[in-house]
Amino acid sequence: MKPARLSPTGALKYETCPRQYLLEDVRKIRPAHRPANLAFGGVLHLVVEEWIKGWMAGKPFDPAAMFDREWRAAREAEGVEYSASQSPETLGATGRALAARFAERWPGFGRLPALDRHGEPLIERKLEARVGPDLVVVGKPDLVVFDPEGRLEVLDLKTPAAPADPAWLALADQLTAYQVLLDAHAERLGLPRVERLGLLELVKRKVTPKGQGPEVRAPVSVDRRSPEAVGEYLAKLRGIAGDLRRGRFPRRSLMAHNSPCGLCAVEGYCRAGDAEGLIVPEAEPGAARAA
Ligand code: SF4
Repeated sequence: MKPARLSPTGALKYETCPRQYLLEDVRKIRPAHRPANLAFGGVLHLVVEEWIKGWMAGKPFDPAAMFDREWRAAREAEGVEYSASQSPETLGATGRALAARFAERWPGFGRLPALDRHGEPLIERKLEARVGPDLVVVGKPDLVVFDPEGRLEVLDLKTPAAPADPAWLALADQLTAYQVLLDAHAERLGLPRVERLGLLELVKRKVTPKGQGPEVRAPVSVDRRSPEAVGEYLAKLRGIAGDLRRGRFPRRSLMAHNSPCGLCAVEGYCRAGDAEGLIVPEAEPGAARAA
């Protein structure tokens, strides 16, 4: 039997709602138009990563101009769906400001990108780790760097609307998964073990004459996870892998005040088999209503 392959985001989606995982990650049902937040985050990730590579090579470029180009290309290549408070122009202004501020602030953060044995930076490097006979963990840590004290640090790059609660870092599954992946590949990559797990946030507030506006926050990180915390996380992943094998995909609508359904891209399909606005690769009418 082939081992299950789980990414940290896939596992989080399964935990949030197994039915959503089935529809989106197994059946690959997706909105015809990409949510603006996803498109925006993808473009900003690309700009930051390419800018860091250029900075390391002594060839920095204008990141705001690159954001403009890539944001236009993303909007032309695929339909983008905006929320009531968003527009291509407001997000474009926010992205330009964040890209320019990132380039101004990054050198002051005292972080140096880590290089593998071949001298390549570990930026969005796809890694896999077999963590048992029936489970492979897969993931792409955004940035692996040395912090100002010379410790290896993995940074997850986020573009949220508001900064995360720093307490979340101590529990974040995604960072635990990155530690598992980097530990599994440390020797092959020629790196020490990762000591710090953290977050680099580019807060996508609107550009306004008053108020805070877009903000590039200094990285924050915590110590690596204990063996017990890693064991607990892997046990959870094995539990999810077992559920996937058994075909267990119940709906998990939770309570009215904390339901994931309001933000669910496949809500209509889940509730009523309604495929309007969705791309359904292998349409099986009624299948989503089964169980
Ligand atoms: S609508 Fe709710 S129950 Fe259905 S897949 Fe989405 S999150 Fe799950």
